[in-house]
Amino acid sequence: MLREFIEKIDKKGIIKCIERPLSIKYEIAIVMKKFDGIPLLFKKVTESPQFRIISGIAGSRNLIREALNIKQENLYEKIIHAAENPKKPKEVSDAPFLKNTKDTLKELPILTHYENDGGPYITAALVYARDTDTDTQNVSFHRMMVIDDRHLAIRIVPRHLFTIFKKNKEKGKDTPVTIVIGVHPAVLISAAYPLEFGMDETWMANSLLDGKLEVISSPINNIEVPSHSEIIIEGFIDCNKEVDEGPFVDITGSYDKVRKQPIIEVEKVYFRENPIYHAILPAGEEHKILMGMPREVKIWSFVKQVVPEVKEVSLTSGGCGWLHAVISIRKHTEGDPKNAIIAAFAAHPSLKHCVVVDDDIDVHNPSDVEWAIATRFQASEDLIIINNVRGSSLDPSADQETLITTKVGIDATIPLSKRKEDFIKAKPPAEIERKILKILNKS
Ligand code: MN
Repeated sequence: MLREFIEKIDKKGIIKCIERPLSIKYEIAIVMKKFDGIPLLFKKVTESPQFRIISGIAGSRNLIREALNIKQENLYEKIIHAAENPKKPKEVSDAPFLKNTKDTLKELPILTHYENDGGPYITAALVYARDTDTDTQNVSFHRMMVIDDRHLAIRIVPRHLFTIFKKNKEKGKDTPVTIVIGVHPAVLISAAYPLEFGMDETWMANSLLDGKLEVISSPINNIEVPSHSEIIIEGFIDCNKEVDEGPFVDITGSYDKVRKQPIIEVEKVYFRENPIYHAILPAGEEHKILMGMPREVKIWSFVKQVVPEVKEVSLTSGGCGWLHAVISIRKHTEGDPKNAIIAAFAAHPSLKHCVVVDDDIDVHNPSDVEWAIATRFQASEDLIIINNVRGSSLDPSADQETLITTKVGIDATIPLSKRKEDFIKAKPPAEIERKILKILNKS
């Protein structure tokens, strides 16, 4: 499925292939940074000649649409539908990754990204684990730092995997995990989506893929993983050991602090013939889309409940895909934009600044949004400041002990009491514009 997707976008000329051999130490990450937002296929990796590296496959909203075969429908509606209607995937008994087995991580092209990183990091890994109480599986993204070729430090924020790990730890047990690298973007989106505990993200992925996802029980841990996976790593999270994890760059592009985190002991590594290793550049577009887009979905659905017509939501790239939202609405009454702001803050507690614009503004175009603020916003009436609320741990300007921050909402919509014509962007006559642009395109 990942390979078919790569082939599909390659045919459309969306992928950029890098033929020249590059090193996993900084060199590949530098190229990823240079072409951030574009899918890249590195065909030659100096240290791992049998591997290719893919990056950026989920690095834009258009790529996500392409991956989910979305033409006209609303992307958010499709994702919400899949989250609410998960489907059990078909189980198969063979998978291409069973072809090659190794005992260590040695051959994997694990990248070192930035100058002061704590080591090489696996960044596009999905961790599959089973909760024995509910007999359900959980899938989540975790960054992992290489300690040696059989050990990884894993960053576990207090969510679902943490719950499973903690329950096992209390019983003195290790947590078996199967790590998956190289899957279709639908699997990535589902793993990043905030489902409730006990819901299997794989089922959501299957629903997003219209029932076409196949899974296989992993050889050691008996955990169901996509059969098309390029690479899987089997092992367990040790219930006793901890190590300094980091430094590592998070979504803001600045260094996250070093913490004591658990250790994974690797038992076996499996990979396909001509394996493709997926790497996500920390703080790059793909990181922001995968982490931020599920929150856009949530903001969209919350705002929809208080405002009749919501068009689009963007957690902007400049806002780290996490701290700044722009929401376009069709305003019906004067209070709508402020209600939208309040709903957005409720939907995404990490949100710090929120701008609401009319539906003639492109939320994905920062210059257009700034133009709306410049021409439609009056701070004395259109500004909301909320002091002393809890914000994001990722924002270095928030109080790092209490996470107390100040949130700001900006209503940059046209006041209903004023003449709309005074606020609309001037355009040339549509027919003549089309004609001239057509001529220009030909020459
Ligand atoms: Mn979960």
